[in-house]
Formats: sequence, structure tokens, C-alpha cells
Amino acid sequence: NMYQQRIPREKSAAMFAEALEYFPGGVNSPVRAFRSVSGPPLFIEQAKGSRMQDVDGNVFLDFCCSWGPLIHGHANEYIEEKVMKTVVKGTSFGTPNEMGNRLGKLILDNHPYVERLRFVSSGTEAVMSAIRLARGVTGRNKILKFDGCYHGHVDSLLVKAGSGLATFGTSSSAGVPESVAADTLILPLNDRDLLEEILSKHAHEIACIIVEPIPANNGLLIQDPSWLKCLRIKAYKHNVLLIFDEVISGFRVGFAGAAGYYDVKPDIITFGKVIGGGFPVGAYAASKEIMDYIAPVGPVYQAGTLSANPVAMAAGLAALELCLTPGFYELQAEKTHAFATALEAYAREKGYPMHVPHIGSIFWLAFGTDRITRSDQIDPANMEYFKMIHHELLQTGVYLGPSGYEVGFISGAHSVGDLEEAVGKIKAAMDVAFA
Ligand code: PMP
Repeated sequence: NMYQQRIPREKSAAMFAEALEYFPGGVNSPVRAFRSVSGPPLFIEQAKGSRMQDVDGNVFLDFCCSWGPLIHGHANEYIEEKVMKTVVKGTSFGTPNEMGNRLGKLILDNHPYVERLRFVSSGTEAVMSAIRLARGVTGRNKILKFDGCYHGHVDSLLVKAGSGLATFGTSSSAGVPESVAADTLILPLNDRDLLEEILSKHAHEIACIIVEPIPANNGLLIQDPSWLKCLRIKAYKHNVLLIFDEVISGFRVGFAGAAGYYDVKPDIITFGKVIGGGFPVGAYAASKEIMDYIAPVGPVYQAGTLSANPVAMAAGLAALELCLTPGFYELQAEKTHAFATALEAYAREKGYPMHVPHIGSIFWLAFGTDRITRSDQIDPANMEYFKMIHHELLQTGVYLGPSGYEVGFISGAHSVGDLEEAVGKIKAAMDVAFA
């Protein structure tokens, strides 16, 4: 049996069986259920730095990093200390607080493209609020998104393309009204002519274009910088707002995220993940002029009971302070590049159909040999390779997010030695998967 367990997994299996009695599918977020890989999900008990330990006592080098927030690894001592000092003074007051100011200042002082921001509690909330803001500013209802970009479980973004090349969407989830989906236009990534055609026809009813500038939820679909610049130019030309969803890329590929990386200034940016240092934080940000549409100054309503609570702000502040350490991003990118190119060299040497797109400290195990920049270039049949690699790696102590469509993250806590260890283990897993 290819998926035989060579590590103890009984306690995780028992806890998952119990969880099935409490939560739909046993989980509180779907991919966690391990449905596209083998075995029960691991129940993690504790983690430190680059490694996590499950309830059966297995230890894994972690490349999921809680799906992106943990850019400094698990239980970072600097973040922990700031959180501990804050938490004993009370966890939430529902009032303005100094920690919020300090995180706001740190971000705005170091991010050249935004002047005001509003903290929320998740990436989804940030995107939902940014869309409402764009609609409020423009007085238009329709939005334009790209196939292969994920923006959280916002109703108007849980849509898929209908038949035809550029269409108004149809709902991709039960519970999302077709009337809502019909306000979302879906285009393929990097089709400049079609974008121009659609904007010429529909710009007067479109509030915004929303894009993941570094699409990282459907594989890692690294885009041509010139296309992102083209989006900017066309949004100006047709007078629609441009939203960069930087929930993954923000503070990850550089302090100024993808906007800084590509030097493209969007009108609104959404943040999540890294911004909260491992706590539930999101934010949306823009110019003062645009953000002044938000209540209590302007007519666009948005609020949150736990928004900018001091504990989450303290964690985010500590995390982003560490990000500003000189050379931090360069070092993460260097380590990630060495890791990815070592795997690619091995694939080439052995003739295995795999390559490793990477940017900053984000990487993806991609199957096939051609560069993949659109979701329709991903062959679902190749996910069988991922499943085997994922299983093999669990047996040898490496944890990847449990889906071949998900990217991996490298943190400041991943040492060069950790990465060399992982390369050796991934090579061995490739030998099994491609045998
Ligand atoms: N936008 C992007 C680009 C994301 O990657 C995600 C989460 N993977 C979201 C939005 C939603 O964020 P959250 O899960 O915090 O709601």
C-alpha cells in the first residue's frame, strides 16, 4: 500500500473522529480535512521555530506556517513577549488603544502606497470591506476579478466563470445568490486585449478590478510585471479602482508587498496573514481621500467588535518590526531560491516532471515542466503526484499544506540546515512519487 502509515497517527485519528461529531467534516476550515491527501489530518499540539509536533509525538519541518502568517516561524520569542506583556492588561476594550496607533504608524511610515488604513479581523473581512468601499466611492455595482485568484469567502467573489471567454459569474457556492454572482465579471489572467474590450464595454458600471498581484491560492501563478502595470494603466484609463489583494503577498515579498515589488500603485490594498503576527488581523488601506469614505467620516459603513484589539495589534507590531530588520526579506528570498533551485536541479537530473516556482519566501511544487501562469494550465491529474509526495513527507517529518493547489512558505526560523534537510527528504519523496 502506497499510503501506508509508518508513523504513529492514532491519536490524531481518534481526535479527528471526535471532531467529526462537532464540526462539519471535522474541521473549521475545509482544506484542513486532508481530503485531497491521505490519512486523517494531524492534530498539532505545539510548535517552535520551523517545527511542529503532533499529538502522536511526530515532529515536522513546517512549510505551511499556518497558511502564511508565520513569517518568523512558530512561537517567535519577540512576538511572544510583546503579546504576553499586552494580554495581562486586558484583551479587548472596544476603544481606541495605543497598540493600534503604533501598528498603524509602523505600516504607514514604511509603506509608500497607502495613507490611511482600517484594521479588521480576517483577510475575507478586508476584501469584503474593500469591495464595499470601491462601490461606495464609485457608485457602481459590478466588480471584475480574475480566474485563478482567490479572495476569501466573500459572496461576490465566490463565483466562477460561466461559459464563454469573459462572462458575468455564476455562483460557485450554494448560498451565494445568482443575483450577487451576476455582478462579478471574470476574466482570465494576462489577457490584455480581452481586458481592454471588457473595460471599453462595461467600465461605466464597474467599481473595481480586484487581483491577487501574486496569485498564490491556485498554485503560484507568477505574473508578468508588465501585465500588472497594464492593469494599472487600464484602470486609470477607464476610471475604475484597482484593488490589490495582498493578503498573502503583503509584508511577505517585501514590506510594501507586491505593490512595492513590482512598483505598481493600486488604489486600495487588502492585508491579512503576516500583518497579525499569528493573530486574527486583516486591514484595508488606501489614500486619505478614498479612506475618508469610511464611517464615521464617510457614508460607507464598516465596523468590528474585536477590530484592532491590543493583543492582536501587539503581535502584528512585533512581527512587522522584525520584518523591518535590514536584510530580512533578502535573506528569506535567498534561502527560498536556493531551496527551490536545488529541487529543480534534481527534477531535471532525473527527468521528473516537476518545477518549483518561487517569489520572495513563497514557493510551489508544480508538476509538468512548462511555466504555469494561469489556473487552466494546471493538470488536475498531476495532483496524484502531490498526494504521494505529501504522504511520503509526513512519514519523514516534513509538513506541506494538504493540497497541491496550495503554496508553501519559508520563515525566518527556517535555517539553511533545515532547508537542506527538507531538500534531501523532498528528493526522496520525489523518487517515490515519480518511480
Ligand atoms: N485573499 C487572499 C489572497 C487570501 O490568500 C486569503 C486566504 N487564503 C483571503 C483573501 C482570505 O483571508 P482569510 O482566510 O483570513 O479570511
